[in-house]
Amino acid sequence: MNAEVSRAKNIVETYDGPPLRIMEVCGTHTHEIFRYGIRRILPPAVKLISGPGCPVCVTPTGYIDEAVMLALAHGAVICTFGDLVRVPGTEKSLADARSEGAQVQTVYSPLDAVAYAAKHQDEQVVFLSVGFETTTPASCLAVKEARGQGLKNFTLLTANKTMDNAYYLLKGSTDAFLFPGHVSAITGAKIYEKLKNDGICGTVTGFTAGEILAALAVNIKKIQEGKPFFVNCYPRVVSEEGSPAARKLMAETLEPCDAEWRGLGCIKGSGLKLNERYAEFDARLKFALPALVGRSNPVCRCGDVLRGVCRPDECKAFGKACVPEHPVGACMVSSEGACAAWYKYG
Ligand code: SF4
Repeated sequence: MNAEVSRAKNIVETYDGPPLRIMEVCGTHTHEIFRYGIRRILPPAVKLISGPGCPVCVTPTGYIDEAVMLALAHGAVICTFGDLVRVPGTEKSLADARSEGAQVQTVYSPLDAVAYAAKHQDEQVVFLSVGFETTTPASCLAVKEARGQGLKNFTLLTANKTMDNAYYLLKGSTDAFLFPGHVSAITGAKIYEKLKNDGICGTVTGFTAGEILAALAVNIKKIQEGKPFFVNCYPRVVSEEGSPAARKLMAETLEPCDAEWRGLGCIKGSGLKLNERYAEFDARLKFALPALVGRSNPVCRCGDVLRGVCRPDECKAFGKACVPEHPVGACMVSSEGACAAWYKYG
């Protein structure tokens, strides 16, 4: 351990001031914090909360219901990342739909789904487009590729989200954030200056144990100073400008919309949908989907977990009815989900 990391670890371990709360909003941070055993060295006065940064976890039940409807009622081939297949919908998951004969393909990128659509032009192919600024540009590339190839059988079911507006909703839940490194590499660090001016504080950080400890130490020191702050603790990856090319791609194909977040409700302007120029690739329009409001299992406290109101092991189903092999809620499905991380390392 180098001297800087050792100093940061010491600041974190020895803090004995007033209680403070720090929220990590990135699912990869949640996972890495557990994996490195960082929670075990935290003093009682420091509470680390897992926020809503896992894209699978915040995807609402109604979205799964829409995907199931597309697969079963419209006969569409659903192409998706593996985790979404097991997320429970109101009545059934995509895995259940598959066992009833629906075609659900696991892919590794949206371009794989375009390639599938190109090879099977007699089938309607829908890619489940979820995620934040890190993964969204790949969906934008996919629709551009589909248009370039003249495909008429490829659409997106969008549930893409941006984090900025969610921070305002979570402002009272934490004293400071560990902002996500990957998302910030696209948005750039300059967005955090506005948040700071609105009293939303924190540090952006990377994913090594040293980087996370350094960011926690900075947060602890700065919270004690009592003034709004933002510190970029990940400058080797996060620049002020971020990635203008990725943002241009998103602006070309998408537009902001209100979005439903599991556990947080509808957050104004926090979603992204295909804009008018790319509307032909919008699965909701193509299949005239009705607005579906999903219902989660009432025992599941994913919403409370995502807002930091309760810890995963405070949910009655945790480790009993709800385990990674048989998840009751989305937070137990993805390896980035707080419940799955608690189950594995907690
Ligand atoms: Fe939901 Fe399972 Fe987590 Fe409970 S343990 S909040 S049921 S995902």
